[in-house]
Amino acid sequence: MATARTSDPRRAALALLSDFEARFDPGSVPPVPVERIAESHLGLLIEEVDDVRTIEGAPTDEGRLSGLLDPAARTIWLDRREAARSPGRRRFTIAHECAHWVLHVAGAAAGAASTDGCRVADVAEQDEDGTTTRARGRTKREAEANAFARELLMPELLLIAEIERTGHNLPALAERFGVSVPALRLRLLTLKLLPAWMASAPVAERGGERR
Ligand SMILES: [Zn+2]
Repeated sequence: MATARTSDPRRAALALLSDFEARFDPGSVPPVPVERIAESHLGLLIEEVDDVRTIEGAPTDEGRLSGLLDPAARTIWLDRREAARSPGRRRFTIAHECAHWVLHVAGAAAGAASTDGCRVADVAEQDEDGTTTRARGRTKREAEANAFARELLMPELLLIAEIERTGHNLPALAERFGVSVPALRLRLLTLKLLPAWMASAPVAERGGERR
């Protein structure tokens, strides 16, 4: 496998996607097949559990967890209820945990990998890009994982192609990419792909998450 080692989360996400496409038939993309990338390409098992805090090694003192990567068991644990409530959220959390694997585990020295749980607030689909701020340690890793997830699920070139095809129909685009409408909207805003009149419009309701 030729995944280029890079500490830039965006480049790492694009490298992962192109490695996957070189090895497997990606089928019709978007949506980016994040589950297949995790399972077939990275060899990570995806499991759902009622409460991620019950997994051995998970932090139990920081509120509910959306997800957890157990590097030793090569398993991504997801909160079952959260995953069921929103397929877009489930996909984002999987992409976020893939980021921890690619950025923070696979490149780390043997034994250095930790099993930090990812709190609900850590897995932030709608946060502004925080990777350029001077965050450190865990907060920096969470911001990097979110930047990676946004890039993996909503690559700029695919967004541009879909917008050319179907226009700026945000619920339709969100559905096509398997993400929530607010996450898509923020991504378009960040990439300056949102027309000015839409950028000032109120954020769509969260209905786009239900499919
Ligand atoms: Zn995380």
